[in-house]
Amino acid sequence: MKAIITGGGIGGLSAAIALKQCGIETCVYEAVKEIRPVGAAISIWPNGVKCLNWLGMKEKLQQLGGPMEYMSYRDFRGNQTMTRFSLDPLVQSVGERPYPVARAELQAMLLETYGRGAVRFGKRVVAVESLSDGVRATFEDGEVAAADLLIAADGTHSALRPWVLGRATERRYAGYVNWNGLVTIDEAIAPANQWTTWVGEGKRVSLMPVSGNRFYFFFDVPLPKGLAEDRDSARADLQRYFSGWAAPVQSLIARIDPQTINRIEIHDIDPFDTLVRGRVALLGDAGHSTTPDIGQGGCAAMEDAVVLAMTLQSHSLGIEDALQRYQARRAYRVKDLVLKARKRCDVTHGADMQQTRAWYDELYQETGDRVLAGMRETIVGGPLG
Ligand code: FAD
Repeated sequence: MKAIITGGGIGGLSAAIALKQCGIETCVYEAVKEIRPVGAAISIWPNGVKCLNWLGMKEKLQQLGGPMEYMSYRDFRGNQTMTRFSLDPLVQSVGERPYPVARAELQAMLLETYGRGAVRFGKRVVAVESLSDGVRATFEDGEVAAADLLIAADGTHSALRPWVLGRATERRYAGYVNWNGLVTIDEAIAPANQWTTWVGEGKRVSLMPVSGNRFYFFFDVPLPKGLAEDRDSARADLQRYFSGWAAPVQSLIARIDPQTINRIEIHDIDPFDTLVRGRVALLGDAGHSTTPDIGQGGCAAMEDAVVLAMTLQSHSLGIEDALQRYQARRAYRVKDLVLKARKRCDVTHGADMQQTRAWYDELYQETGDRVLAGMRETIVGGPLG
């Protein structure tokens, strides 16, 4: 059996590793010549970690993950601790740790595990068609490739999604801008073993430890789409948006390197039930584009990869049947994640400030039990429990 995988991001490479692991011949076609991930880092929650473990990367991942042992929310102005609790009860109940990792290192780990030589860079897929016993993909440079099946892991702007769905989809602006990057850990700003978040005014500032003594930082601000802001204005923009915020936030803004910061207008896509057409399956953001508010987009792509391998390996009624089973196992799960993230996004970013203020008040009463129960539910809903 031979599979074409379009897209060499988290989803495409996870799928390639998963299929290779179960004996399927694969080739990854990646549009760009050099992959530059859109963000600085990513939190891989235990459901994603279990998938990467299943794909044989357990030890490598442990080297990349930051020591995130506690979680804390702080008041934006006064810097008071609203709540602080250990993540250990979560780890104990789900059987795995979360790992915040630098994206470039995650990407390198996936590429190295799959084999860099098996990725065709600079190959942008533009069309797919069904054959009587397979699929044919056409690339921008005119190359044509045929295989038994095709996995479209070409991200949120997927070129093949319209073919699978039979219609176009629109990306929905979630109402806020996210700046993110990496900075050397400074314990005067926040503890090195903690996910620290300052919240207020519908905005947030967050720090997570990744390996190599670095914090992954991000700033979220509800803003209109399309503002003329870029790296050159980033420090001044953040100073303006976070004027009056606590001293550690000001120190963080002073330390960031604007030339490596990412500024992203956050979008998602209304979830849909179709992930498969014939021998073509959508995977990762191509099949479910979510806001990052519960940190599950990449984890869900890893879950897709594992379920795809399981269904192709363990069913004998043919490829179309196996892909239908993949869709049946994934459609509800990914829809749920997109909608959960959207709900969390609105509360965090002040879609209704009264509700957001009520959440700030609740944080002062939070013991960790409710937050961790929500995370646990999301995590154990994954394919590996
Ligand atoms: P992508 O990573 O977008 O990869 C798609 C690949 O396909 C790219 O390499 C692209 O070049 C290639 N491509 C595109 N078009 C074509 C084409 N026509 N032909 C061939 N190749 C093509 N997720 C988490 O799990 N945890 C987090 O903490 C988290 N934080 C996030 C923070 C931010 C600010 C954002 C924006 C997202 C976050 N996510 C997080 C989500 C996560 O980044 C995505 O869900 C994940 O990258 C999806 O992987 P993918 O491989 O499906 O898509």
